Amino acid sequence: MIFRVFGNWKMHKNPQEARDFVRRLRADIRPEEENSFCLFPPALTAFAVNEALLSSKISWGGQNCYFENAGAFTGENSPQVLKEMGAGYCLVGHSERRQVFFEPEDVMAKKVKALQDLGLSPVLCVGETLDNRKWGRTAEVILRQLKSGLALADFSKEILVAYEPVWAIGTGEVAHPEQVAEVHDQIRKVLEELAGAARASEIPLLYGGSVKASNASGLAVLKEVNGFLVGGASLNPEEFLNIYRQSASL
Ligand code: PEP
Repeated sequence: MIFRVFGNWKMHKNPQEARDFVRRLRADIRPEEENSFCLFPPALTAFAVNEALLSSKISWGGQNCYFENAGAFTGENSPQVLKEMGAGYCLVGHSERRQVFFEPEDVMAKKVKALQDLGLSPVLCVGETLDNRKWGRTAEVILRQLKSGLALADFSKEILVAYEPVWAIGTGEVAHPEQVAEVHDQIRKVLEELAGAARASEIPLLYGGSVKASNASGLAVLKEVNGFLVGGASLNPEEFLNIYRQSASL
């Protein structure tokens, strides 16, 4: 499995900043490395990113979408239009969607299905809060989020899972490799139950939460870590590329 480095820009970068980023990133990546990368720009910047990525194997995806393709859903993003614009992926259930926008889990399951129906690859994000961890509830929370988020998933199609402990996102506090290994093993086992061992072994598991070039290798070396979902450190093309360089050769 190739090592993936996915960059979630959150609500950062206007179209010109996005074009500059892509130009600098493309200048430093060899063509055979391009398919390890995916950018998640804010919706209003996606058009510029798609244009800047033409003739490149670097992918891009939505940070969020609705589960209907069209209709009276003011303020939502259509998965169909995401696809038509050139996206390959979409995040589902990022912790900011869960915590800031109170997105319900049954809606995430519908989004996973809507994306897969269109041939887009959902990246289902799961992760415990600090309180969950303190109270020893990490495994239970992850299991619940996986089972509900994947309730309508079609495992014959592409799907990715990102483990992003809420307490590690944007805090500078990266999870310890032992904690990541434990949760990724657990996620793999749940996927084995849901999809069968052979299929589960092909599903990329990403870690996200304060990943930087300086801490990437200690996590990338873990057997069940197949890539990273990077927030803050993905805003700088050199740092983002360095994360890949620290990880992919391990
Ligand atoms: C994220 O937004 O998915 C994320 C992991 O953010 P950060 O790398 O800034 O913690």
